[in-house]
Amino acid sequence: MQYQSTRDAGLRVTAAEAIVRGLAPQSGLFVPESFPRADLEAWRQLSYPELAEKVLAGYLTDYSADFLHRAAQATYGEAFGGKAGCTVKVCDGLYALELWHGPTCAFKDYALQLMPKLLVEAKRILHRGETTRILVATSGDTGKAALAGYAGLDGIDIAVFYPNAGTSEIQRLQMATQAGDNVRVYAVEGNFDDAQTGVKRVFSDETVAAELEARGIRLSSANSINWGRLAPQIVYYFYAYFRLAEQGAVAWGEPVDFCVPTGNFGDILAGYYAKRMGLPVGKLVCASNRNNVLTDFIRTGTYDARREFYKTASPSMDILISSNLERLLWHVSGSSDKVADWMRQLAQTGRYTVDAETLAAIQASFDAGFADDAQGAEEIRVRFAQDGYLCDTHTAVAFCVAARCRTAAPMVVLSTASPFKFPRDVLTALGQTAPAGDFAAMAALEAAAGVQAPQSLRALAELPVRFTQVIEPGEIRAAALQ
Ligand SMILES: *Cc1c(COP(=O)(O)O)cnc(C)c1O
Repeated sequence: MQYQSTRDAGLRVTAAEAIVRGLAPQSGLFVPESFPRADLEAWRQLSYPELAEKVLAGYLTDYSADFLHRAAQATYGEAFGGKAGCTVKVCDGLYALELWHGPTCAFKDYALQLMPKLLVEAKRILHRGETTRILVATSGDTGKAALAGYAGLDGIDIAVFYPNAGTSEIQRLQMATQAGDNVRVYAVEGNFDDAQTGVKRVFSDETVAAELEARGIRLSSANSINWGRLAPQIVYYFYAYFRLAEQGAVAWGEPVDFCVPTGNFGDILAGYYAKRMGLPVGKLVCASNRNNVLTDFIRTGTYDARREFYKTASPSMDILISSNLERLLWHVSGSSDKVADWMRQLAQTGRYTVDAETLAAIQASFDAGFADDAQGAEEIRVRFAQDGYLCDTHTAVAFCVAARCRTAAPMVVLSTASPFKFPRDVLTALGQTAPAGDFAAMAALEAAAGVQAPQSLRALAELPVRFTQVIEPGEIRAAALQ
């Protein structure tokens, strides 16, 4: 399998190169030039790690079968407590694909537990001996998932920058207590944008690159534009379908709809890959919070980022420029010239409009909707009262939208974070007064819901805090050079 750039029809690279490089030249994204065919009959009985191996083998053709076998087994076994791809019935025809049974309790573990192994192997395949330094600006979930994935790996170190006072207490402690000799964590004075802008500046600073190169270090990013983060997410769409078929919830070969709480469009795009590989997927429903730029785009064909940015109770979906949409545009339009032109318009004017055929092709597979914080909170309350199902603030947005976009097919909502990661918001949604501290709120939520919080979150209260340094945005460069 070769990879092309969304913005340059001439480029071809291997999977290992795409993963080491992250971004293609001119900020293009690497895309597979075709969709490997799924063997549904052969795959339906496989365990999660076995299925991961098969799906990845179609895309990562320059990686050995033996490596993929070992990596999939090591990643999706114990670390997910045997609950990788776990699907739960919520009520008739409605299911939750719970993606938060991994070590950091958010779906990003599926990619970030595997991608570091893919990167180490890619460097070996390409005979690259440098140290890779991962820089991450995070609003919470990505930082911890990346730390957990990269900690302790040879030839890699990682520095994470999060906004001081911009995360939940749980999220902060998840990062500040991270073990490992190759990890560093900094709180940055300011908001997420300050941290992100500071990190982006370091990436584009040639003096930083030169100084690090002299020391044998090359910078890289862990964010979701890397192909190595997208590919692992395709697996759970297959796994969920097979489980529904096994339970008789869908007749074999009949479609299932998926509703995905969306930010950077990575998770839902993985569902599109599954569909193009041959999985019977009906609609992929793109659920947004009040930052509903994708809802408008999927309904009208105009992407317009010139709008107010809202901070919501589902912060991992607070995004106005949804990077992975570019990959979908390339797959449906088939034209890197068109994509390059739309992306140029977006950068220059903040908006673009796709042609009618491209829009029709998108609407054939996607539906979209959004819910604000109040609707999300009401959804948390109702799901719990009616179905006994407790969900987090991101998943709640998807439940809301899913209800409006139902077809005759069963609907699977991707549940992307444990409700105990956001205990104060969830408790408030249930109609209780949340105590000030996250751990008190966690205990109150356990009592209200009658379930225990994940052990990795409960244990945080006891772990030693390793990182307490607060820096100014202007000090990110020095920290990156350390
Ligand atoms: C990152 C994240 C999302 C959004 O996923 P994208 O791939 O960026 O669309 C949704 N929910 C949670 C909890 C997340 O951490």
